Amino acid sequence: MAMTTWVFAEEIAGAPSSTSLEMLTKARSFGGDLAAVYSGAGSAEGFDALGAHGATRVFHIEIGDSLPSTGLALAIAGLAAEHHPDLILFGMGFTDRDVAGRLSAGLDRPVLANAVDIVPDGDEITVVSEILGGTEIVEAGFAGPRPWLAIVRPKAFTAEPGGGGSPEVIPVAIGETGPATITERHEEAAEGPQLADAAVVVTGGRGIGSAEKWSMVTDLASLLGAAVGATRAVVDAEWTAYSLQVGQTGQTVKPDVYLALGLSGAMQHLVGMKDSGTIIAVNKDAEAPIFGIADLGVVGDVHKVVPALIEALKARR
Ligand SMILES: Cc1cc2nc3c(=O)[nH]c(=O)nc-3n(C[C@H](O)[C@H](O)[C@H](O)COP(=O)(O)OP(=O)(O)OC[C@H]3O[C@@H](n4cnc5c(N)ncnc54)[C@H](O)[C@@H]3O)c2cc1C
Repeated sequence: MAMTTWVFAEEIAGAPSSTSLEMLTKARSFGGDLAAVYSGAGSAEGFDALGAHGATRVFHIEIGDSLPSTGLALAIAGLAAEHHPDLILFGMGFTDRDVAGRLSAGLDRPVLANAVDIVPDGDEITVVSEILGGTEIVEAGFAGPRPWLAIVRPKAFTAEPGGGGSPEVIPVAIGETGPATITERHEEAAEGPQLADAAVVVTGGRGIGSAEKWSMVTDLASLLGAAVGATRAVVDAEWTAYSLQVGQTGQTVKPDVYLALGLSGAMQHLVGMKDSGTIIAVNKDAEAPIFGIADLGVVGDVHKVVPALIEALKARR
């Protein structure tokens, strides 16, 4: 049966969220009809990116300064009643999850969260998720009337343009938006490569020792053109910002190279980085769990290994 899939795409910094492009790439392989539901001001480049990744239509919802989720959920519910999608995919962003939850409650439809894969098979759709830090795989199926809703983890799929052209853009009028409005916005100052997209990530753990010594992580990252990551222990100790936390309650990353410096490799950390290309760990404890998934391990003191690496890299310049 040809399936109709919609992908929720929130505008982040003027472009569709990276997860929405990842989900479109995956949904392209389902065949059938594929559309994006776009929330944001919108631009020709943004719509073309959605088209290039597989959307033939874009339902464009401009929510303005209203707190987005109420209006979006009502608008998508109206669209779903008119167009009857089989499956609506959401990412793990705050708005994504908020809208998915409201839609699930409003339409009385099931939502399956934390997906790392979506497998359609005839009339069935299986949602694959990982539990216990990725050590166990759970497969769940939907039942009952559609649309079915799924929330997909970032980096579950790799975004790849498929050669699609500009999509048809359908502006969607929003009705009720709820009483809350956004009165102020803060943008985090972001320098250098960003964690979510960097090819190389250098992450420090508690073994770095102190806030003063944290600069060895940032120095090494800057010499490598890498993004900086941190464990929760480091964020809790306020050596760096929460936005750099990698793991279950932080960001999911999938760089080509992941350097893990003085971190133990707790399950809640591994879940956010285990799919990285090459994992290199430095830890003074040869029994540290991070060595269980590392491709390359150095049993040693970060205070010796990292400064030596920094010197070697500087000498090469
Ligand atoms: C619900 C929940 C969610 C969580 N979410 C996250 C999350 O998103 N991300 C996350 O990271 N954690 C998360 N945690 C916390 C997680 O369980 C660990 O506590 C945390 O990851 C540990 O951080 P760490 O590896 O830096 O510290 P530790 O576990 O203390 O490890 C420090 C490591 O450094 C090594 N070391 C010490 N000194 C040196 C040295 N001089 N040279 C080399 N190595 C050295 C030690 O051998 C040790 O292996 C979560 C926990 C819970 C309960």
